Amino acid sequence: IFASVEMAPRDPILGLTEAFNADTRATKVNLGVGVYYDDNGKIPLLAAVKAAEKARLETMPPRGYQPIEGLNAYNQAVQNLLFGAGSELLAAGRVITAEALGGTGALKIGADFLKRISPNAKVYISDPSWENHRALFESAGFVVENYPYYDAATRGVNFAGMKSFLEGLAAGSIIILHACCHNPTGADLSDAQWQEVVDVCKAKGLVPFLDMAYQGFADGIDADAVAVRAFSASGLQFFVSSSFSKSFSLYGERVGALSVVTASKEESARVLSQVKRVIRTNYSNPPTHGGAVVAAVLSTPELRQMWEDELAGMRDRIRAMRVALVDKLKAKGVAQDFSFVVKQRGMFSYTGLTSAQVDVLRNEFGIYAVGTGRICLAALNSKNIDAVVDAIAAVLKA
Ligand code: PMP
Repeated sequence: IFASVEMAPRDPILGLTEAFNADTRATKVNLGVGVYYDDNGKIPLLAAVKAAEKARLETMPPRGYQPIEGLNAYNQAVQNLLFGAGSELLAAGRVITAEALGGTGALKIGADFLKRISPNAKVYISDPSWENHRALFESAGFVVENYPYYDAATRGVNFAGMKSFLEGLAAGSIIILHACCHNPTGADLSDAQWQEVVDVCKAKGLVPFLDMAYQGFADGIDADAVAVRAFSASGLQFFVSSSFSKSFSLYGERVGALSVVTASKEESARVLSQVKRVIRTNYSNPPTHGGAVVAAVLSTPELRQMWEDELAGMRDRIRAMRVALVDKLKAKGVAQDFSFVVKQRGMFSYTGLTSAQVDVLRNEFGIYAVGTGRICLAALNSKNIDAVVDAIAAVLKA
């Protein structure tokens, strides 16, 4: 039965990590990852998480099944972070949330549910987007196309192009939007532009699906929820996938959620019942540990404060690396203006380095970046930044 099975293409980013791991140079640096590292180059275990885990494990909790939609306390905590604790939508019962296996799991549950209710809709993702967006929605059976997004000339968003494209779409089209910290470019919409996107979605009857994988990594928990809040105020129905992989540094625990905003409490009950069917036939119910830890941190005032401080620490360190990269490249005499790196937000930057330059960085200097020129600022630290700057400067002057 396997004779005709072809080799699947390698995942470009995981392939990069494999090549990095095999590299024996002591000075190598992997800027191709999508993970936050601390100044020692380690994935942090947040103190708030450690405390909540310790308390949880001391009680030796039984490992019974969770409800299909996961832990209620977790889902409520997710809703408060996304929509704001005083949200009218929450009070009206217009939001359902199901714990999911990371942001990826949330997207997949949302995609499968959408395929059942809108089988003929097309899905639109930003050009470029997180590479898994296309694959996830295609594997749910949708045709996926791009909408204009990144403007290489300004290293920002081609908002006019994006807006006029969205205005031309058929009603019912599903639009995947990065709620903040766009992956891979780092270029985000302004608050005013978000409002324009909301207005277009409303006028044209589009179905917004916000992907929020980095809440708290740009400006803060509430500031980064501006897109969710703008859609919330619009009266529209929409989807939000969210993830604590980065904000809690819980990558491997797979802690995310799918939230759906409906028109009424009664509609919420029907929608939740169908989302639960999708989950039941995928993996039945989510695992216990990660969601319980996040719920404990978010609902215990001291732990929550600790987490907010640690999240701010990660955000500030990334920003400091952005500033340092720009300043150091300038000090090295690099003529190009890299000030856009400070304007981009979140973990990533589209640097404008070409695929050929990325090859030289890797081959000659052991600096690994994605072929598109995407680098992860959170992989830079006080020890490796000078080597990275020297290598980039050498490549640019060559
Ligand atoms: N959406 C975007 C835009 C992402 O960058 C990522 C993770 N890199 C995800 C979703 C998936 O998150 P998770 O790892 O929690 O599945």
